[in-house]
Amino acid sequence: MVGGAPLPQVPRTMARQPHAKYPIKKLGLYGKIVAEVFLFLLTTKKGYIMEHTLPPLPYAKNALVPHISEETFDYHYGKHHQAYVTNLNNLIKGTEFENASLKDIIKKSSGGIYNNSAQIWNHTFFWNSMKPNGGGTPSGALADAINKKWGSLDEFKKAFQASAVGNFGSGWTWLVKKADGSVDIVNMGAAGTPLTTGDTALLTIDVWEHAYYIDYRNLRAKFVEVFLNSLANWDFAAANYGA
Ligand code: MN
Repeated sequence: MVGGAPLPQVPRTMARQPHAKYPIKKLGLYGKIVAEVFLFLLTTKKGYIMEHTLPPLPYAKNALVPHISEETFDYHYGKHHQAYVTNLNNLIKGTEFENASLKDIIKKSSGGIYNNSAQIWNHTFFWNSMKPNGGGTPSGALADAINKKWGSLDEFKKAFQASAVGNFGSGWTWLVKKADGSVDIVNMGAAGTPLTTGDTALLTIDVWEHAYYIDYRNLRAKFVEVFLNSLANWDFAAANYGA
């Protein structure tokens, strides 16, 4: 670099322009090295810390009223989801994960970095697992797979309801696609995510109490029932199944 090798990603003429503004000859060798290093950091990806950001919601905060209130989104999205993003950005500083993608961090990390990164991905997936006027019925290959496994959508709903209600403590209940194309329901605790198991996530419900306590208090069963009948985004699930 100091020897004058071309700077990555920036045309030489552009990269050299800032130098013209300074009396670079008077800086001496040390000054030149500092200038080159500064320019290198400025113009290559590695020079930046990759800040993770809170993804926008796929709908307005009041779009799921009366099933999920705007107040729940203020807390669950605005406070909880945001806190996982803030925590992760703080935790990865100075670690091997500083410039890694969210999915890579989830697959390779453990402890607090895993918990916060997985919770970021899970919550984004959960917001997309719902839509205004959701519920209804899946179609296409996903509907076939559900019928093959449970016999009917109603039987699937009963099984999903029982799993989500029985998922002890804080966690996630997932509809997943297995490697052989079949579908299944998987309960996971804490920040569990199918990204680490090889299954493909199709649809999920957050069964941490913070997901339903404002609107349903302790009634998780009611929350799961409303999710299945009025919120589930089967278009999103079908797209994930086909992917
Ligand atoms: Mn949550």
